[in-house]
Parts: sequence; structure tokens; C-alpha cells
Amino acid sequence: MTQRFKSFQFEIDKPLSQLSTFGIGGPARFFYEVQKIEELQSLLLYCDAQRLPFFILGKGSNSLFDDRGFDGLVILNKIAFCQFEWPVVHVGAGYSFSLLGTQTARKGWSGLEFASGIPGSVGGAIYMNAGANGHETSQTLIEATFVNAKGEIEVLQRDQIDFSYRFSSFQKKKGSIVSAKFLLTPSEAARKQQLRIIDYRMRTQPYGDKSAGCVFRNPDPHSAGALIQQSGLKGKQLGGAEVSTLHGNFIINKSGASSKEILALVAHVQQIVKAKTGVDLEMEIRCVPYCLEDEADVSR
Ligand SMILES: Cc1cc2nc3c(=O)[nH]c(=O)nc-3n(C[C@H](O)[C@H](O)[C@H](O)COP(=O)(O)OP(=O)(O)OC[C@H]3O[C@@H](n4cnc5c(N)ncnc54)[C@H](O)[C@@H]3O)c2cc1C
Repeated sequence: MTQRFKSFQFEIDKPLSQLSTFGIGGPARFFYEVQKIEELQSLLLYCDAQRLPFFILGKGSNSLFDDRGFDGLVILNKIAFCQFEWPVVHVGAGYSFSLLGTQTARKGWSGLEFASGIPGSVGGAIYMNAGANGHETSQTLIEATFVNAKGEIEVLQRDQIDFSYRFSSFQKKKGSIVSAKFLLTPSEAARKQQLRIIDYRMRTQPYGDKSAGCVFRNPDPHSAGALIQQSGLKGKQLGGAEVSTLHGNFIINKSGASSKEILALVAHVQQIVKAKTGVDLEMEIRCVPYCLEDEADVSR
């Protein structure tokens, strides 16, 4: 079903389980897919004027939606252009981060090989400062364009954005990243390195299963996956949720798991790891509350 608001045709009660790699989540009260920057500007202005809570969604590969869904507007960012202007790639935030890693490596451009196999969008990767194999998204980023909650465009240079492990200052801003520029370097080994990375991922991570990637941040200097394995939790099941037997830091939706079951297994893992190793595990996955006012209670 759809409903027209001003010039926007919102879908009603869109199942969020279809938009998350976990395959979990109730309906979004309103849903809209945005293709153009100008469209996003007017949409955010509309939300501001109507006091309509919104959530920006990339590829849903790091998000756990609530079983009740989302009481507001979910905006799917599909701004997905990609321009190669050596040595810079200018890309829309809705573009596939994994594809970007593969395409640049194929061209012999180095710096984003690690992105290959990360099933997120470019916007999601910047927001999360996604990383792997000793590399992070922030390292090659030179500029990000952001539309704030008033619909205004902000062009931010790399040094105007704070980044750390799985953190960017976009996590403290209301609005949406719409595009980015990355500066790459020439390397004959880029393609080989990217193929090595994807091969390793396929062998060590549960790619065929429904998950949202690593559940916990690595608590310095430990590996969360190793602590979970050491605590004997691999294969632990709770309802339809299971700690992957392949990689301890992945929880998979094995058979129709609910968000509640995933969170109960998360709490169980935290409790057992703390008891057995003394280490506190903190969630990396973003929990999207049904109602944004509840955010402080349920997100990390
Ligand atoms: C099998 C698997 C493997 C993975 N491997 C890795 C890995 O190696 N390294 C790693 O770091 N992560 C990994 N992840 C997690 C995930 O892919 C990354 O965090 C990714 O960057 C999330 O992007 P997304 O578009 O899917 O984000 P979403 O899940 O859609 O959103 C995540 C957060 O980003 C925000 N967001 C998304 N797009 C925008 C935007 N345009 N503007 C503002 N905010 C936005 C959302 O509001 C939300 O808070 C993995 C996940 C899976 C399922």
C-alpha cells in the first residue's frame, strides 16, 4: 500500500526483514527509496517540518531492526552513481562498497581492496568507518557530502570528520551522507590482494547465513571471536538465533529468529565471556529501536 504526502509517495508497512541482511524486523510505518540528492533534501526538510522521525538505511548489513518495526519513515539511500577520475573515485552513498572495492582493485587502484566482500553501502561504510585486514574506510576518504536535517548540503573534508575504530562523527549528526570521494594509489598487486581478501572471507565467515557481520567490537587487545570461542559459545542456540559454528563473532538468524532472540543471545554471550575471561563485550551492530525516543535504552 502507498500513501501520498506532499510530492512523496510513501509505502506503508514495508517489512524491514526484507531490507536487512539479518532478515529480521517488523514493518516500517512509512518507507521511501531516494535516488537523487535534491529529492533527499526536500524529504529531510519535510520530516523536519512534520516532526516525522526518520532512519537512513543503506544495505542493512549492520542493522538489527525491532520486531515491531519502525515508527517513522525509513529512507533507503539509493544514490548510486560512480565516477572514476584517476586517482579519485567519486561515488554515491548508496553504491555497493564491496563492488567499489572490486572495481578499483581490477583497475589496479589500491586502497579499497578490503571493501570487497563487505556487504554494505558506501554511506554505511563511512558512517561505521568499516574496516578489515588492517584497513579502514577513513584512510582513503578525502571528502564526504552530507545533507543535514534542514535539507542543507555540507561538504566535509577528511580532517573535518572524526574517525576511530568503527566510529565516525556522522554517528552524532542527524541527516544523510550522500556521496564521497576516495583517493587511491596505483598498485599492480591490488587485484591479487583483493582476491586474497575475498577468498579468506569466504572460508572464515558464514557468508551463506543471515547475519549483520561481527556482533561485538574487538576489545583491545583481544579478538571478540577468539574470546567467544574460548568461552565455548560457538554453536550456542537460543530460539532461532545461533552463534556461528564457523566464526564466534557472528550471530546468525538460523531459523526465523526474532530481534528479541538475537538480543537475548547477545546478552548471554556477554555474560558468559565476562564470567570466563573477565572481558566486557560491546555491541558493534546498530540496534534500531521501534521508536527513536527509546534509542538510549536499546542501542549500544
Ligand atoms: C557477512 C558480513 C560481513 C561483514 N564484514 C564486515 C567487515 O569486514 N568490516 C566491517 O567493518 N563491517 C562488516 N560488516 C558489517 C557491515 O557490512 C558494515 O558495517 C557496513 O559498512 C554497513 O553498511 P550498510 O549500508 O549495510 O549500513 P546499514 O546497516 O544500512 O546502516 C548502518 C548504520 O549506518 C547508517 N547509515 C547508512 N547509510 C547512511 C548514510 N548514507 N548516511 C548516514 N547514515 C547512514 C544507518 O542509519 C545505521 O545507523 C559485515 C556484515 C556482514 C553481513
